[in-house]
Formats: sequence, C-alpha cells, structure tokens
Amino acid sequence: MEALGINLSERSYLIHFGSDLTAVISAEIAKLVTAGRKVVVLTDENIAHALPWMLVETLAGCPRLILPPGEGTKSLGALGEVWDFLATEKCDRGGVLVTLGGGVIGDLGGFSAAAYLRGIEFIQVPTTLLAMVDSSVGGKTGINISAGKNLVGAFHQPRGVFVATGLLTTLPPREFAAGMAEVIKYGLLADAALLAQLERTPLTVRSPDLAGVIRRCCEIKAAIVEADERETAKEGGRALLNLGHTFGHAIEQVAGYGIYLHGEAVAIGLVAAAHLSQQLGYITTDEVTRITTVLKAHALPVSLREGLPLTNLMAAVARDKKVRAGLPRFVVLHALGRAVTQDGIELPLAEACFRNIGAVD
Ligand code: ADP
Ligand code: ZN
Repeated sequence: MEALGINLSERSYLIHFGSDLTAVISAEIAKLVTAGRKVVVLTDENIAHALPWMLVETLAGCPRLILPPGEGTKSLGALGEVWDFLATEKCDRGGVLVTLGGGVIGDLGGFSAAAYLRGIEFIQVPTTLLAMVDSSVGGKTGINISAGKNLVGAFHQPRGVFVATGLLTTLPPREFAAGMAEVIKYGLLADAALLAQLERTPLTVRSPDLAGVIRRCCEIKAAIVEADERETAKEGGRALLNLGHTFGHAIEQVAGYGIYLHGEAVAIGLVAAAHLSQQLGYITTDEVTRITTVLKAHALPVSLREGLPLTNLMAAVARDKKVRAGLPRFVVLHALGRAVTQDGIELPLAEACFRNIGAVD
C-alpha cells in the first residue's frame, strides 16, 4: 500500500502501511546503523511479551528499555529513565529512538526525543489501533503531571511511522474497540463514505481493508493538521478532531481515570455530541440512532455504565481548555460526515446531552 506523506513546514515524513512491515523496518534500521547512527528502542512489558520477535528479529541488536505498561508510565519519573537510558547508551545527536507501543510509549518516547540533546529523531511503530489512527499524525508528544493529563509536552514530528496492522492481532479486544471510537469519529467528522462502510461491515482485526481504513483516518487527520499545525485556527481546524472529546474528557475525569478507556469515553461523548447536534436542529433522530448503532456494532458503550453526577460533569466541561467567553465550545455535526466548531453552547443544552447519556442529578 502506498505510503502517506505528511507535509509540515518544519519537517515532512512518511507513514508506511501494511500488514507485515518487518522487512521494511529492518532495512530502515540497518541503513541508520550502517550510517553510524545509534538506534535504541522504547517499549512496554506487555508489548515485549506479546511481540517478542519484533525485539529479537526486526529490531535485533538495538538496545532497549522496557517500561511497565499503563498511563502511569507517561510520567516525569519514566521520562527521566528514558533520558538516563539514552545517555547510558551513548546516544549522540545522530541517535534515533524507536517507539514500539501504544499512545503511552509514543507520547513518552516522542517527548523524550524532543528534549534529549535538544532534539533527536524518533521512529514510531504503533501497536494499538488508537496510536495508529491518532498518535502517529500530528506531532503532539508529552506526559501527565499531578495537575492533569498531557500538561507538559512538545510538538515533535517523527522521522517516519510504520503502521503494521499484523501487530494488532495480540491487542486485547477492548483496546481494539477503544481505537474504533476514533475511527468512527473520523467518519463522522469528515467522511460519510467511511461511516457507511463501517455501518455495512463492522471493522475487525481480520478485515482485509483494515490498513486501508487506518490510512484513510491518517489522511483525514493529516489534512486537518497540515492546515492548522499548532491549533491556532479561530474556528474549525485542529479543534474538529475533538468531536466527542469535550463530553468524553469530562466522563473520563469524573468517573476517575482508568474506569473508562479513552476511546470508550469518546464513544459515549460522540453520542452526547450527536444529541447536541440533533437538538440544535442539524441532524435527525434517525441519524442519532445510526451513530449509536455503529458504535454498538463495534463493541463500544453508548451510555454511562453507572450514572455520574451532572454537576461534576459540567464542572469538568468548564475546566476544559476549549471554553471561550465563559461558555463551552463544542464540535457539532452539521451532517454525518461534516463537523464544525460551535461556541456559546448554552449550559442547559449541554446538561440535557449529559442526561441523554445517563448523567444523574
Ligand atoms: P493507547 O494507545 O490506547 O494510548 P496504551 O499505550 O496504554 O494505549 O496501550 C494499551 C494497552 O495495550 C497497554 O496495556 C499496552 O501494554 C497494551 N498493548 C499495546 N499494544 C499491544 C499489542 N500489540 N499487543 C498486546 N498488548 C498491547
Ligand atoms: Zn481521542
């Protein structure tokens, strides 16, 4: 499958797609090593266990740091560990860090690379569906601090990305479903044909067009990011990627991180955003049903498992970065396949949407 070029002012790179890219990745590493560059690998314990051949064959001979799995690894402590590892391995300015993992490893590794010696190159080999469709385009890297998630980070574009869908066969089904929430989001915000395809035939890890669908998601994200690399557009732009996320982030936060996977909270958030769009008169109740149906067909939740307090959810929305002039900004659907940002949503309207997905007084 043809590689996708990501064209950004400061740096452009390619995303390669295929079911098995071991030969391509090995060749890229060999080329770097032959040129005298140090190549090191960052991954987590689950991945090292699930995909041992990636480390012993594809990335053979590259020193590796294997960190514990989970969001806890996107931390200041882990960042220090990666920097110490790079220094111990005598990585110089020509060094290249390969991140083999999901969003956690990609974000942490990307940020480590952005700051180590004021910036070394990194190569992403995403191993989750979420990382393939979301984290591999856009250059956002970073870690969590006690005050909040993703509060410290940098824009750092990878040298290249290798999306090998075969790596997803060991991914737990719940994690695959969570990634599907973002795939469905891309269909809703920019591609009615993609949405219709997912409605006809739910995507699975064995779907023949898995790589094609992932490539399409990357293409949509790339077009949005290329037009608004640093999220400075007054309306539309990169903010569109937050469809379902203002509601979703509130759900994640109020439930307590770890109760819902990010993608699960986004799925419920997409349903809330659908209700909002319907109440604003943009889409029909039948279209709202189409959205819940396609989410359910991909094993995703469409309402809260346990009622969360409305007041706490609304407080979380108010704390969101996207609040303008006291009223929250939401991404809404003008049609299935077309999203726009809308400022000044009245609070009772947002509350009604939270009630629709099971929030309680
Ligand atoms: P995300 O990409 O959704 O941000 P993480 O990086 O936290 O998520 O990865 C989700 C979980 O799946 C972690 O426990 C991670 O170790 C595990 N994991 C990631 N990729 C694979 C894989 N290909 N096979 C098995 N487990 C994986
Ligand atoms: Zn997301």
